[in-house]
Amino acid sequence: MNYNKKTVKDIDVKGKKVLLRCDFNVPQDPDTRAITDDKRIRAALPTIQYLLEQGAAVIACSHLGKPKNGPEEKFSLKPVAARLGELLGKDVIMAADVVGEDAKAKAAALSAGQVLLLENTRFEKGETKNDPALAKAMADMAEVYVSDAFGAVHRAHASTAGVAAYLPAVSGFLIEKELEIMGGALANPKRPLVAILGGSKVSSKIGVINHLLDIADTIIIGGGMAYTFAKARGGSVGKSLLEADWLDYCNEMTTKAREKGVSLLLPVDTLCAAEFSKDAAPVLHDVMTIPEDMMGMDIGPKTIETYTAAVKDAGTVIWNGPMGVFEFPAFAEGTRAVAKALAETDAITIIGGGDSAAAVAQLGYADKMTHISTGGGASLEFLEGKELPGVACLLDK
Ligand code: ADP
Ligand code: MG
Repeated sequence: MNYNKKTVKDIDVKGKKVLLRCDFNVPQDPDTRAITDDKRIRAALPTIQYLLEQGAAVIACSHLGKPKNGPEEKFSLKPVAARLGELLGKDVIMAADVVGEDAKAKAAALSAGQVLLLENTRFEKGETKNDPALAKAMADMAEVYVSDAFGAVHRAHASTAGVAAYLPAVSGFLIEKELEIMGGALANPKRPLVAILGGSKVSSKIGVINHLLDIADTIIIGGGMAYTFAKARGGSVGKSLLEADWLDYCNEMTTKAREKGVSLLLPVDTLCAAEFSKDAAPVLHDVMTIPEDMMGMDIGPKTIETYTAAVKDAGTVIWNGPMGVFEFPAFAEGTRAVAKALAETDAITIIGGGDSAAAVAQLGYADKMTHISTGGGASLEFLEGKELPGVACLLDK
């Protein structure tokens, strides 16, 4: 996959109408619909401000939530328009629809320096089907397409990919940074490249493990998936998270690592609990001999020592998936120690995955990382080496 894509800096937008796909899928209070975290709106500001400074008129669009049956007030982007207006310090004009009469009229009347926000793209049934008629109707309102919704680039929808068939398409600053840092780490990493993979399930990370085995020097396994690996190697894992269908796969990955000369590190010790509870008392066990009535909840101190040492001498570290059930303080130490090691290393540090990003933020290390990907599902597919439709559709440099 080519990550070298044209950006807003490579195209003339002066006096033009720019359709800008943003990720305004913000969390909201279920009752009042007040936005509870405006991080995604703030993240869009640099691209919007740049376009306005260049003399463009911005027609922003996004999805919000999962409306299934056309327009629904609770999925309206109106609260986003209000917040975006406050942050920009200027009026954001809200359209009543996506490509209907109101949107078309307001887009036609829009002048340089103004911002229009279309309604939730998923109010149109054709959005998730990547309907060419919808894509063309959106494109007809503008002269240039800019995509800055990294969180949605793994989806081939009308507003994330289809529209690029009808307009010159470039990336905004958010996608540019994702491609530069994550794409760079995958295509041409500063070595040694260490990948730390954790989280709950092997089955959700198979593509990531397989792809990273092709490019990494060291792969570190933690989290719930470590127990399926331990079992596959003949261990007893008690009540730990286990995916019996994936035992063979774990063995295949172990063999692949050996053949490729990749060092595959598994936990040696693990903090266990008698039940999945935040009040459970942690008990330390060897990862290969977990008692029948116990479950592995975090990596143990010996494992922490090996894992943090591997990070110290790395050139690049890619981290996806917590080392344990970090939501419970008694089982957060493994994740905390790895986060701290990443914060202290000189390596390029990249965090992909929604829960991993949340863990790093919760532990207070967010500003110490080189890059925290803004897309959960999108960053996983990126790490799997898959083609991302919302990136592939942009013009090559
Ligand atoms: P990401 O969103 O970063 O890709 P995942 O969604 O794969 O990460 O996994 C995150 C979840 O994995 C967390 O909620 C965490 O509690 C859980 N987890 C980590 N270790 C264990 C374990 N030993 N047993 C059960 N769940 C675990
Ligand atoms: Mg997750």
